[in-house]
Amino acid sequence: MKFDLIIHNAQIIDGSGEPAFNADLAVSKGKIAAIGAVSAADATLVYDAQGLVLAPGFVDVHTHDDLQVIHAPQMLPKISQGITTVIVGNCGISASPVTLTGALPDPMNLLGAAEDFSYADFASYKQAVNRAQPAVNVAALIGHTALRNNHMDRLDRTATQGEVELMRVQLREALTEGALGLSSGLAYGSAIASSTEEVKKLAEVLNETGAVYTTHLRTEFDEILTALDEAFEIGEHAKAPIIVSHLKCAGAGNWGRSGEILKKLETASQNHPVGCDCYPYSASSSTLDLQQVTSDFDIVITWSEPHPEQGGKKLADIAKDWNVSLVDAAKKLQPAGAVYHGMSEQDVQKILAHPLTMVGSDGLPVDPLPHPRLWGAFPRVLGHYSRDLKLFSLPEAIRKMTRMSADRFGLDDRGRIAVGAAADLVLFDPATVKDAATFTQPQQLAEGIEAVWVNGVLSYAQKTVTGMRAGKFLTRQRDLRMGFY
Ligand SMILES: [Zn+2]
Repeated sequence: MKFDLIIHNAQIIDGSGEPAFNADLAVSKGKIAAIGAVSAADATLVYDAQGLVLAPGFVDVHTHDDLQVIHAPQMLPKISQGITTVIVGNCGISASPVTLTGALPDPMNLLGAAEDFSYADFASYKQAVNRAQPAVNVAALIGHTALRNNHMDRLDRTATQGEVELMRVQLREALTEGALGLSSGLAYGSAIASSTEEVKKLAEVLNETGAVYTTHLRTEFDEILTALDEAFEIGEHAKAPIIVSHLKCAGAGNWGRSGEILKKLETASQNHPVGCDCYPYSASSSTLDLQQVTSDFDIVITWSEPHPEQGGKKLADIAKDWNVSLVDAAKKLQPAGAVYHGMSEQDVQKILAHPLTMVGSDGLPVDPLPHPRLWGAFPRVLGHYSRDLKLFSLPEAIRKMTRMSADRFGLDDRGRIAVGAAADLVLFDPATVKDAATFTQPQQLAEGIEAVWVNGVLSYAQKTVTGMRAGKFLTRQRDLRMGFY
């Protein structure tokens, strides 16, 4: 018995964007040991993959699973989509390093409750994840807002030089411990008052270890081009690769501008490593933001602390029931969460199909009525967008979910099918794979995901978790100063 596992007769799509090929794949000690014709007699376990596609496990580059990987380590919403690695700490908010002295600022409440934040440094977070042993691998960014909140008495101003210095010390420590980079969430009330200079000063630290800068832009509405300029200015100053988070044209006045925005991204990418992620839906979701309240499109309330009974209702209907304006209804509901149906489908498709775009779910795991992207983003790209709408080929869809994603974050042995790479694998039926989660029934297992292996361990099969959890904490393996591949 040479191998632990052989997957027989699969259509392999390796993550590079190249077409499928038929082969057997052998796994030994959690790694891919052979690809080609392998005899079934050489393995302890044999899995017949006739008619199915075998791809690298999907890398969800945009998640808010920071605390979820510790508190719900089965990670069913993710493993059931074929996701084997999650990147946490996006949009300026991270579970570490965090020391709370007052109330939990919005939007850190998207991650969990105040009492769940107990990781004062990156090392203790890493330890807690390893202790919980989640079903998926975890890699982490450090949030700008989290750092601000550690060192500032109030968040409605820019940080002083002394405060930035304290933030730099914490960021540097986390990067040395293997954090992937820095994320910002400049549109949120807790970071919007920070100056470009503040973020530039902080981001300078990234270059010391070759780490990445990701950003939820200052605005995704009419002024998005200026916000992109700011993102490029920060990344270029820091000599760090730039990833624009959940790129979109938000707001009715902005529909149809994806061409212009992608052009700008392309131009910037000619001189500097720049890319973006995107979730495959024309609705966004976050905390309920008064700035985003409008009658231009539907806003659905997903949760409300003072009015939980309003969850699932449209803001417009609630305002009508209460006989108040939309903004007054929103004020009464806060703190609350919402889904905003505020994008045009054509823009979503253009951005998703662009060669610089990776797939990320941006799922919100603690929302009681989560946006369906939490359970459906990756199968939706494979089924709806690639197979049914033919927006791009299946190998290209998989590249956007695996190889490109792992390379951009410096995770060298993930996101690819190659001898020596980690045996993170997903087997799916290309004819039936699809998302089942909807806006009204969001917590639904995807169809057609047949089996998922994490570090060589079968973790999900026949629409159920096996109970084996083999995820690891992943630290940055590559110095990204030389840019993307
Ligand atoms: Zn965001």
